[in-house]
Amino acid sequence: MSYTSPLAESLAPDLLERFQRYVRVDTQSARDREGSPSTPGQLDLARMLVDELHAIGLADAALDEHGYVYATLEGPEGSPVIGLLAHMDVSPDAPAAGVEPLVHAAYDGGRIELPRGGTVLDPAEMPVLAGKVGHDIVTSSGDTLLGADDKAGVAEIMTAVAHLAANPELPRPTLRIAFTPDEEVGEGATLFDVERFGARCAYTIDGSQPGELQDETFSAAEVSLTVYGVDIHPGYATGKLVNAARLAGRILAALPADRLTPETTSDREGFIHPYEISGSAGRAVVRAIVRDFDDDLLHEHVALLTRTAAEVVAAEPRARLDVKVRPQYVNMRRHIETMPEVVERAERAIRAEGLEVIRDPIRGGTDGSNLSARGLPTPNLFTGGHEYHSTREWASVQDMASAAAVIVRLAEAWAE
Ligand SMILES: [Zn+2]
Repeated sequence: MSYTSPLAESLAPDLLERFQRYVRVDTQSARDREGSPSTPGQLDLARMLVDELHAIGLADAALDEHGYVYATLEGPEGSPVIGLLAHMDVSPDAPAAGVEPLVHAAYDGGRIELPRGGTVLDPAEMPVLAGKVGHDIVTSSGDTLLGADDKAGVAEIMTAVAHLAANPELPRPTLRIAFTPDEEVGEGATLFDVERFGARCAYTIDGSQPGELQDETFSAAEVSLTVYGVDIHPGYATGKLVNAARLAGRILAALPADRLTPETTSDREGFIHPYEISGSAGRAVVRAIVRDFDDDLLHEHVALLTRTAAEVVAAEPRARLDVKVRPQYVNMRRHIETMPEVVERAERAIRAEGLEVIRDPIRGGTDGSNLSARGLPTPNLFTGGHEYHSTREWASVQDMASAAAVIVRLAEAWAE
């Protein structure tokens, strides 16, 4: 399979070597964290990256007290400062210890049967994989995730930066690099030091298909509904018991089921998604996430959910409802729109690599959602990885090499 450019082909060996090294480190993050990072394995990778950045020649590379790695590749005097970001952790939703990557060279388009866990990558069910005939495909051994999300992004940034450092004649701005912990548990941007980072804008390298440039995410809120009933021994309950668990069930039953759900929506439609319910007769809790690309519609969905709950509970005067609404992140678009060159230069870099720009909104959030809202416009670029958070996760060496080449071309696009 030919690469998108001689540059991509020349970057591939270093990239693959780095990628295989990074995925072997167990950096699975954990929910309900008590410190940052949530797990010590992330620090193992962070220290490895600091050492490698020093070896590349980025003398200021350092790990901060929260588990973030920062480094600088200086451009010519007066250059703009542009950020490159990837997250070091991998998802808690699939086994992540003992990852052993496998390279399936020159993929023939058939089923890929992995040696462990009975895991099969079937192109009949994975149309994107079916399109990669001739690529070198990297998978896990079948009993863990691979960790392309987001070690592909980490390896691509490292490879591109090493290439720029080794070729000082190549045009570049000042590049600020950061590798972040705990993205998969929603905390990647929390302790990110925007001020210290000091960049005009940044790019997360955390997407999928070659050419992807994402500057739109959901706006997101989490709603927690607590219903208090009246609990009493069922043998003496006549006329007294008020069952909170039943009321919670009625709230769910009263919500729309044929629209506004994740399973009935796509593209730009938002949803209300009750994802956890726990309860007893005395007290029941319903947790839901609410999503939309439009902030006004997001508020409407939140209002529909809380009004539905209030109406159900109001029908039983002895029951009580407590509502908590927590904003999670906002659609990054309105923050990125204020600086059109952030998207323009990325488009230029993608086209310079011979790729078409793909601009689908993300039905989710990224570290960039939060960072954009905090004044660092941060769209997302592709990595070449797929089937994230599962044992079927895979990445194409050729596509990862394209991503590394796009980073080199992005540096050129920002050189002044
Ligand atoms: Zn990711």
